[in-house]
Amino acid sequence: MRKITIAIDGYSSTGKSTVAKQLADWLGYVYVDSGAMYRAITLYALQNEFIYKGELFIENLVVALPDITLDFRKNDSGKAEMYLNGQNVEKEIRTMEVSEWVSPVATIPEVRRKLVKLQHAMGENKGVVMDGRDIGTVVFPNAELKIFMNASAKERAGRRFRELQERGDTATFEEVLENVTERDRIDTTRADSPLKKATDAIEIDNSEMNLEDQFHTILQLAKDRIAGRI
Ligand code: C5P
Repeated sequence: MRKITIAIDGYSSTGKSTVAKQLADWLGYVYVDSGAMYRAITLYALQNEFIYKGELFIENLVVALPDITLDFRKNDSGKAEMYLNGQNVEKEIRTMEVSEWVSPVATIPEVRRKLVKLQHAMGENKGVVMDGRDIGTVVFPNAELKIFMNASAKERAGRRFRELQERGDTATFEEVLENVTERDRIDTTRADSPLKKATDAIEIDNSEMNLEDQFHTILQLAKDRIAGRI
């Protein structure tokens, strides 16, 4: 069966990664969480004090970029996890501190260039589901299937809040809502590769959709594209 490229973009916490993972598992495709890569660079910046006392030192981070190695490795249950310079950072990249800084870091063109190059290599053989903000517009503009996910800000913040609570994070709902809204603002207004719906993307608002309906809707679209029906 022919393999295609599937790009899933959208606002923060719209459930992109959940459906992207389900889809990749079902199709036997590679799943790439591009947000994890921006988060890992942000964690590196925090660890190395390129983010210090509330300030991001862009030039220092840019100079250090060649020292950063990123890769995904599967854990025992087959889930891909983020490694930063050989260290598993899957947990550390999901904290509120990283969430607060990741969008400013993602505005840096040199960071984007480094990550887009890696993303191209990960998707060069097709058979990939990648989620992010610029996958259908910049990384894989020729992707056979592009989905743009949306949901109300309150719904999205509620989902992220429950996720953080499950992990023992003490952030309040208001803090999470503020973070989600602020990230969307930065992501949609940045000069380099802003978040926007590709003209040929299919928009799905999942505020009122359950996970199963959403998965089956997108799976059907993928099957149609693979078969060349649409
Ligand atoms: O997907 P996730 O919410 O983990 O992404 C974290 C942040 O990384 C986003 O808010 C955005 O600033 C940045 N990002 C990006 N381009 C991508 C993926 C993520 O700018 N392709």
